[in-house]
Amino acid sequence: MLPRDFKNIMAFGQIGYIVQFPVASEYPSLMSLPEIIEKQIQQINYQLYIHSTDKKRKEDTKSKNKEKEEKEKYILCGTCENKITQPTFKLEINGAFRHTFLNPEGHVFHIGCFQEADGCAVFGEPTSEWSWFKEFTWRNARCNQCLKQLGWYYHSHLDQFFFGLILDSLI
Ligand SMILES: [Zn+2]
Repeated sequence: MLPRDFKNIMAFGQIGYIVQFPVASEYPSLMSLPEIIEKQIQQINYQLYIHSTDKKRKEDTKSKNKEKEEKEKYILCGTCENKITQPTFKLEINGAFRHTFLNPEGHVFHIGCFQEADGCAVFGEPTSEWSWFKEFTWRNARCNQCLKQLGWYYHSHLDQFFFGLILDSLI
């Protein structure tokens, strides 16, 4: 039979599901009760420590994954990582999502067409000068956070609109 105090210690040890005690027979018979208690307290502390660090690690991984998933849902500004648009807003204009154009200064632009780009602010008066899409006027579209030029906002007289965004400026 175990001494009364020892039984109480055993009951205490079973309160938390993470706390497990070796059975009394695993202790050397020469250990005094205070020594056994001391050892068990050490074990409880150790197991609580393991449990809390493990829990923190799992929570950290979970929040990192969530952050990653969240980012994957968006197409970001290549300069400041502002959320610009989403893959679901990709649009085909004249039969293609991606277009390559040359501007009057001789720069080549690869642009993608998007129905919406909430991360863009539109600047300037609409113009049809040098418009890459017939029937559409254009205005400048900049990142609404860092103001970098990300492409153009196109609008037609039939009230169709879309954003043509420079793919190299997005991530
Ligand atoms: Zn930006």
